Amino acid sequence: MKTAERPEAIKTRTARCGCGGLAITVAGEPRGVYACACQECQRATGTAFSYRSVFIDDAVIGVEGERRIWRRNGDAGRWVEQTFCPTCGTLVFMTGEGLPGAVSVSVGCFADPEFAPPATLFRARRKHRWFDPGPQTRISE
Ligand SMILES: [Zn+2]
Ligand SMILES: [Zn+2]
Repeated sequence: MKTAERPEAIKTRTARCGCGGLAITVAGEPRGVYACACQECQRATGTAFSYRSVFIDDAVIGVEGERRIWRRNGDAGRWVEQTFCPTCGTLVFMTGEGLPGAVSVSVGCFADPEFAPPATLFRARRKHRWFDPGPQTRISE
């Protein structure tokens, strides 16, 4: 039976860690793209901000490879789970209490320069002074 959605026409993307051991494949466009300059994101990524894309659980086609999960309590005491590759340490995706039914994938792991820019920069008051995300990005203090 033919469906109106034609799943073969939906774009899929795979986000991979640095060594290629851990990958998550998602279908369709992200529900949201954001950056966050909070200190936790700076430390978790080892750089000035995180840049992430939100996909609902139903958009996740699969997760392959060995992974480890680091759980911490973030803002307002809500838990966050960072999933990373045990070999190279790349943080590939994240789930959290504040993001029910969805996964937040590290955009850099897609290695796609055409990927949408962040719609919002969260915790902008923590950002490094040189960093200006540009006019397409809303600033949230
Ligand atoms: Zn790896
Ligand atoms: Zn953050």
